Amino acid sequence: MTSAPATTEHPADSDPSRPEHTDVLVVGAGISGIGAAYHLRQQCPDKHYIVLESQDDFGGTWRTHRYPGIRSDSDLYTFGYRFKPWTGKPIATAQEILDYLSEVIDENDLAPHIRYGHDIDTAVWSSDDRRWTVQGTRSATGDRFTITASFLYMCQGYYRHSQGYTPTWPGMDRFRGTIVHPQTWPDDLDYQGKRVIVIGSGATAATMIPAMAPDVEHITMVQRSPTYFISGRNVNELADTLRDLDVDEAWIHEIVRRKILFDQAAFTRRCFTEPEAVKAELLGDVRARLAPEHSEVVDTAFTPSYLPWRQRIAFVPDGDLFEGINNGKASVVTDEIDTFTETGLALASGETIDADIIITATGFNLNVLGDIAFTIDDEPIDFSETVAYHGTMFTGIPNMAWVFGYFRASWTLRADLIADFVCRLLHHMDDSGADIVVPRLRAGEENMPLLPWVDPENFNPGYLQRGMHLLPKQGDHEPWRHTQDYWSEKDIMPTADLDDGALVFE
Ligand SMILES: Cc1cc2nc3c(=O)[nH]c(=O)nc-3n(C[C@H](O)[C@H](O)[C@H](O)COP(=O)(O)OP(=O)(O)OC[C@H]3O[C@@H](n4cnc5c(N)ncnc54)[C@H](O)[C@@H]3O)c2cc1C
Repeated sequence: MTSAPATTEHPADSDPSRPEHTDVLVVGAGISGIGAAYHLRQQCPDKHYIVLESQDDFGGTWRTHRYPGIRSDSDLYTFGYRFKPWTGKPIATAQEILDYLSEVIDENDLAPHIRYGHDIDTAVWSSDDRRWTVQGTRSATGDRFTITASFLYMCQGYYRHSQGYTPTWPGMDRFRGTIVHPQTWPDDLDYQGKRVIVIGSGATAATMIPAMAPDVEHITMVQRSPTYFISGRNVNELADTLRDLDVDEAWIHEIVRRKILFDQAAFTRRCFTEPEAVKAELLGDVRARLAPEHSEVVDTAFTPSYLPWRQRIAFVPDGDLFEGINNGKASVVTDEIDTFTETGLALASGETIDADIIITATGFNLNVLGDIAFTIDDEPIDFSETVAYHGTMFTGIPNMAWVFGYFRASWTLRADLIADFVCRLLHHMDDSGADIVVPRLRAGEENMPLLPWVDPENFNPGYLQRGMHLLPKQGDHEPWRHTQDYWSEKDIMPTADLDDGALVFE
């Protein structure tokens, strides 16, 4: 293993009158930021880097969310990094993911580089100084801090961690029970023997319902429209067989990743070539898991209006969501909410449901680059006016890359690909003596048709629809496309020609 500087003090920066400087500033210590730190250490051992994280510890999504049952819905062979074998069950709890990240930090001595409780609010690029000046607040003391950086490696995710998205419904203030958003779950929330409503139909609702059902009096999922679910045992038989054969864990990790990705590619293809057949299979699986007396809910509660794969398909390990329905502890209602009442919800159909606790599993507030106010030479940056270069850098914005992972495939597959790209770019800059790299549309591309960040025909969850107008655009050809397609990007990103004129080096 290559060694990295053990301290966070920049070796060339001894002048105490200047703010601290780093070569690469990584924003965020979630799975992307920790991966970025690992790759910088491995691939760019001469670069000094600092990771700034606003929370008091690492993990991002997996620390923020503390609701009952919180777990991944991707398998950890692909949601884990390519460099660190996953040895547990494919679907993992938040705590298991945090333990895995903790091992990555320890095994690679990343801790000295990470500073917690550092919330960044402004980033200013100076063309004269050829660097970013980043400022923010230390949560422990309320002090302001300033750090300058040659390159910003944005790993701050895609949603606001401090507060989830809750629509406003009439009558919310008159409800006498407790309203909770899964993103700000109170540790002392007592739901034992209570009547609970979960508003929402996504992975979050599907996770918390089986986790809470045994303890509540009854839990009702109220959804405006159904979601596709796919269920299966929470095991990977290939991995288990290879383990029985005493195959090395690093090999198992690689083989199982390839097999999962191969199967996912085939499944995705089928979703587009024979969507009706896939739909019939998914619904058939739900029907098979429900007791005969509940089979009517397949039509009312589990048959979406869209075709499979237009939104993430939620995985239900061991069919646990359906168990609660079968034993009468959980139910699903598809309806519009008319109003909150003193005692629960009144629905558009006229039905009322009483509850002590209403959980709004209604999603995120998408935010663009960590709610940081970016300026270039005093000009505020509007990211929606930029065009994304390989879905990671932006026209007119120097020395910055953003990790926005995959939705259909695991997020981290893209985090690893972007890390390789950033490290290659940093080497290229050093080799060519450039301090600055900025994507610019080339001659003839000024009138290229611009498309939304993510094609809404292709993938359209609510939080993206609500926030799409804030996000960068993509073009209609490479390197300006953001396809969200791992299977093409795994070949395109590593071979992207850095000298094709789309990146301008100074
Ligand atoms: C409940 C839930 C389950 C999910 N399950 C899966 C799954 O199974 N598979 C999958 O592929 N994806 C899943 N996702 C998507 C998931 O968010 C990503 O996969 C991944 O965890 C994102 O990692 P990240 O490090 O990029 O961002 P985050 O986890 O969002 O971490 C970003 C970090 O940056 C910090 N930060 C943000 N702004 C600032 C700032 N201004 N200053 C300093 N620090 C800042 C935040 O505090 C946070 O710690 C899930 C998301 C949720 C909410």
